[in-house]
Amino acid sequence: MRFHQSTTELFIPDGLEPEKALRRTTHMAISAHQDDIEIMAVEPILSCYQQSDLWFSAIVMSDGRGSPRDDLYKDYSDEEMRVVRIKEQKKAAIVGEYANLVLLDYPSKAIKDAKNRQPVEDLQLLFNATRPRFVYTHNLADKHDTHVATALRVIEALRHLPAAERPDKLFGCEVWRSLDWLLDSDKVAFDLSKHENLQSALLGIFDSQICGGKRYDLATMGRRKANATYFESHGVDISTGLSYAMDLTPLILAPEKEIIPFVQEHIQRFAHDVADRLTRVG
Ligand SMILES: [Zn+2]
Repeated sequence: MRFHQSTTELFIPDGLEPEKALRRTTHMAISAHQDDIEIMAVEPILSCYQQSDLWFSAIVMSDGRGSPRDDLYKDYSDEEMRVVRIKEQKKAAIVGEYANLVLLDYPSKAIKDAKNRQPVEDLQLLFNATRPRFVYTHNLADKHDTHVATALRVIEALRHLPAAERPDKLFGCEVWRSLDWLLDSDKVAFDLSKHENLQSALLGIFDSQICGGKRYDLATMGRRKANATYFESHGVDISTGLSYAMDLTPLILAPEKEIIPFVQEHIQRFAHDVADRLTRVG
């Protein structure tokens, strides 16, 4: 396989030959940075864990050079930071028993440049080699530019696939900005009640980010618990952990569908819900 970046790396934790390792993929997550996948898409990791017929592949788009640093890492150069973050992502791939980890190694600005076709072409190559049934990426209402750009590149690559080869589902998941605001009827809720130990282990690996001054590990487990408790105001908690996603599948089933109005419709339904309640009890 020939990727555009000479530094792109394919890491296969169990050492299977690349063609077979990629082809076994059933679930795939594509993120902007190292650690985003473990924050936003642990559901497919857990679904595939210790299964012989379900396999999870992770694609990380960026090189991780520009991340904030502190503590142990405060004097690290951008290149040293890149190396640490790659090492951390590989550790997560081993702990989570991923089928494949692909580190595309693009600078953030290349991902954010809509005219640069290379990231999309690399994703097309990967979709052709893997044909996942379920794809997870960032949601389109995230507040980090590189995250939103990643989601747009994923949608574009999937739209180029022949209809029969497109995945069954595309989910936009939460990192920077929760999806609690979505109407319950618009939410995809993933039950993360099980394997909390494994969830914590996967989040805790990314020491360079946590040491950067942000407890992503605690915040992410906390968000999962908060989502579960605040999902239903009546009745007892059914699950002890939930993460939310926006269902982006309509955007790949109808490739001509306009993206901005699709997202705005979700926001409009939220706006109407708030106004309706105020009118009802006002
Ligand atoms: Zn990120």
